[in-house]
This record gives sequence, structure tokens and C-alpha cells, in this order.
Amino acid sequence: MDLKTLYREVIVDHYKKPRNSTPLDHPDVEAKCKNPSCGDRVTLQLRFANDNLAEIGFIGVGCAISQASTSMMTQAVKGKSREEVRQIMTAFREMVVEGAEQPDAEALGDLVTMQGIAKLPARVKCAMCGWSALEAALDEQSEEVDMDQDTSMPEAKRGGGM
Ligand code: ZN
Repeated sequence: MDLKTLYREVIVDHYKKPRNSTPLDHPDVEAKCKNPSCGDRVTLQLRFANDNLAEIGFIGVGCAISQASTSMMTQAVKGKSREEVRQIMTAFREMVVEGAEQPDAEALGDLVTMQGIAKLPARVKCAMCGWSALEAALDEQSEEVDMDQDTSMPEAKRGGGM
């Protein structure tokens, strides 16, 4: 199976059956992100046990990429320490936003299937929405993140469409 086919199947699978998509009973922190240009929204909840991210849950609406990326993110970071979570977050950003040719496969695991997003500038904000909520949650930033205001995102002048 080539990477493109795998990518498509992974996205569809996570979109149809999002993982960790139930709100937590007693979250320690909650953060939100919106991506108005596509209509994506993610609310993310975290609960820590000592230094580990013991539980994570999200509620989201939006396109397949935004929801699949958030679903995959929750799987990747659950059970990890704060430092490991930040490592995964950085590696994902480098791969998708900065287009790193040699992504940190060790940190990213299955997330490397998302590498192709880097070549779709209009969809990078979709893929980063859940991750931006994660970053906001770790920083205990209560204000909703707006992807359209994030100047680190690539220009997306040619519009959406997958
Ligand atoms: Zn989207």
C-alpha cells in the first residue's frame, strides 16, 4: 500500500470512528480552537496524573482532516509525560507546517501518515486545529485559539478542497 492510499484510509477511519471523542468527567484543563475558514472546531479536555497525561477527550466538528488529525493526536499523546507530549507536538508541527522532509518518526509513530498535508497548504490549518488546542491546554490558555489568526500557518490562497 502506498503512503497516499494509507493516508486516505487512515483519515477516513479516524473521521468515521474518532478515538477519545468523549468529554471527561473531571478535566484539569480545557482548551478550544476554531478554524473559521473551514468551519472546524475542537474542544479538548485533559486530565493529568502526576506528570502524565492520563486522560484526553475531545468534542469536534468540521472536515475529515481536522477531526482525523485530532483523533490521531489524542491517541499519540495519551499516557505520555508533558515533555513527551511537547516533543510529539513539535515533531508534528515541523512535519506538517514547516514541511520537514525527514520527520521525527520515533516521536510521531503512525502520525507520519499525515506527512502529505504539508503539500496541501489550504489544509494545514485543519490538521493543526486540534494540536493548537493541545498547545493552548498545556499552556493553560483559556482564550479560544483562532487558526485564521495564526501567522505561522502557510498562505492558503487557493482555497480548500480535498
Ligand atoms: Zn477543515
